[in-house]
Amino acid sequence: MKGKPRFLLCVCRGDCPGFAQLDIWKFMNYVRNELEVEYAITHPQMCVDDGDRFWKDYAKKDVVYIVAGCDPKMQRKMYKDALAEVGVDFDKQVFPIDLRNTPTEQAMQKIKDFVEKVNQQVAGI
Ligand code: SF4
Repeated sequence: MKGKPRFLLCVCRGDCPGFAQLDIWKFMNYVRNELEVEYAITHPQMCVDDGDRFWKDYAKKDVVYIVAGCDPKMQRKMYKDALAEVGVDFDKQVFPIDLRNTPTEQAMQKIKDFVEKVNQQVAGI
């Protein structure tokens, strides 16, 4: 795989109660500055048509993605077909994590642990 994981945060348009406790920009600046990721970006709603177009335009075969958002099973259901169209295997290249109903400090600790775990797994440790 090429480089460190790319980090994406999906936030249900930004007005969903599930993300009301998350200070999105504090969280994103923490991820991009403090954690072992290539970079971090936010998308408002990756499970609708423009999310599919985004994945098809953006995803690469030799890259790993960490996606924070809703339930991992929901993410799989909603992203896997668009990714498969461009040769990206959700089960091998996407590491989803649920951050709904998580206050900012707790989300920062949770994502720190998760990014470390993903980097170890990708490196085969
Ligand atoms: S993919 Fe999940 S987190 Fe993102 S908008 Fe859809 S339901 Fe919300």
